[in-house]
Amino acid sequence: RKKRQERLFYSEAPFPKPRPNKRRIQGEGGGENEEDLAGVMVSNEVDEVFRGAKTDLDKYLALRGLHARNPRAYRRLLVERTEEVLPYIYTPTVGEACQKYSNLDIETTGLYVTLEDRGRVLEKLRSWKNGNEVRAIVVTDGERILGLGDLGAGGMGISEGKIQLYTAAAGVPPDQCLPICLDVGTNRESLLEDPEYKGLRRRRPMGVEYYSFLDEFVQALRAWRPHCLLQFEDFGNHTAFVLLGKYRNQLCCFNDDIQGTASINLAGILAGLRLKEGAFSEQKILFHGAGEAGVGCGELIALALSTWHGVPLPEARKRILFMDSKGLVCKSRLSQLQDHKVPFAHDLEHAPDLLQVVRKHKPTVLIGVSTQAGSFTEEVLRAMCENCNRPLIFPLSNPTSKAECTFEEAFAHTDGRCIFASGSPFPPLTVPSPDGMGQGTTYHPAQANNAYIFPAVGYAAILTEASCIPDDVFLEAAKCLAGLSSDEDLERGRLFPPFSKIRETSAHIMAHLCQFFCDEGYGTKPQELRTGEEADWLQYVKKRMYNPSY
Ligand code: NAP
Ligand code: MN
Repeated sequence: RKKRQERLFYSEAPFPKPRPNKRRIQGEGGGENEEDLAGVMVSNEVDEVFRGAKTDLDKYLALRGLHARNPRAYRRLLVERTEEVLPYIYTPTVGEACQKYSNLDIETTGLYVTLEDRGRVLEKLRSWKNGNEVRAIVVTDGERILGLGDLGAGGMGISEGKIQLYTAAAGVPPDQCLPICLDVGTNRESLLEDPEYKGLRRRRPMGVEYYSFLDEFVQALRAWRPHCLLQFEDFGNHTAFVLLGKYRNQLCCFNDDIQGTASINLAGILAGLRLKEGAFSEQKILFHGAGEAGVGCGELIALALSTWHGVPLPEARKRILFMDSKGLVCKSRLSQLQDHKVPFAHDLEHAPDLLQVVRKHKPTVLIGVSTQAGSFTEEVLRAMCENCNRPLIFPLSNPTSKAECTFEEAFAHTDGRCIFASGSPFPPLTVPSPDGMGQGTTYHPAQANNAYIFPAVGYAAILTEASCIPDDVFLEAAKCLAGLSSDEDLERGRLFPPFSKIRETSAHIMAHLCQFFCDEGYGTKPQELRTGEEADWLQYVKKRMYNPSY
């Protein structure tokens, strides 16, 4: 395989030479049971747990309560009833929980590392109860939680929520999982003034003070658990790209907002294209929002065009347009642009609003990562239909209250022609049959849930003890996932396999990625695996997936 010459802009340096890695960590892993990964639970245990819960937040608290009282019962629900509990442990409810984190009667299940631990971060990590088992960490500094902004120490809720998905979706044993919140203060006045706020009561440090703290954390982590996977989550976009560029070569890490989102989004596009005419390389893509999620997606799409279609990266980027809060990202704004937007500052006339840009540049794919609810208006959606027969409409902003449009709106204003995926879940839609007889047809909105990607990427990296996670892994994950949905799923709007089959889906992605990590020299194959073929890996991976009934 030809080694890649071109680099994505946030990859400061080429990836390091994979290190020879003889030592394998033994003895962890879950059940032996290969079959029955989806699991069936006959009783109505979920209803039982939710009894008396009036609001979504009540359900979140009920699940946390069960976790504290009876971890085993909780984990069974988590693994066997993932689809039902997901909206409460993850987006959208987790957003509300993070906002109210200090006011809730809960005990954190994660580890806070605060600015006050400076100089002693390694000791702090070593104090963790299951220290020798930890293999997967989700860390946030709480600066940009979902689309909700700076929530300071409340960000812990996101690390806690995401880490659950490692177990639920990919089968990482819970004792190997550690959620961390770096409490470096907050710039949100309302939190600083809230007497209940439990985080550090100070503004966020900037520059050297911030980055040296992050460096102490990462170096301490490397000393403490050298093979550990680190997922960066919900950092502000001014630090996220910098941290990723700096650490991606030093340890096995990735940023889910940049890379995980990019991968699920690319998978959505590839799956969506199975339903419409025109090749991937012919699409024109417009992002509404040019932050971490948007630019991460843009870069991965450009990488896909260059890797799969031979389009040089700078050329590929020209097929992708971005809008931010000041309108079209373009060359005339260059001197004012944040670094991550620069690769997409094309030589185009500036235009301030979305409708104008849709009319002028005729995108076939419209992706919302702007946190601006309702910004995909009827006019915008109708204009998208002028550009092609079946436009891809992906309002990805979370939580639901931030979505650029609802499924119903997208469906109505494109006369059912859109191919749709959203960040937060929307209910299905039943369209009456034209003659008014029969049941009508039900369409399911696809949810471009990162949970299809990050747990599988993470566990594959862990199982192969990968030295780092190159961008191609996210391309491979997207390609693999896009191929897993059936034609019937696609016809009904499901771009991805149903979430009720997430363990099976993850197992396939993991098998594919394990093979990739090893073939490319980033990871090592365990001795017990004979061929290292995908089918072999599938067996192996399934055996290593945590099963709560053992
Ligand atoms: P971010 O880095 O803060 O970026 C937000 C972007 O939106 C910025 O570029 C901002 O412009 C832009 N924006 C703000 N107001 C706008 C307006 N009126 N018109 C156009 N653009 C506007 O946040 P992010 O990490 O990219 O996340 C964005 C959203 O995507 C969040 O809601 C997040 O939950 C969601 N997300 C979804 C998924 C998923 O569905 N799988 C994954 C990750 C993130 P400026 O640059 O000018 O400030
Ligand atoms: Mn996130």
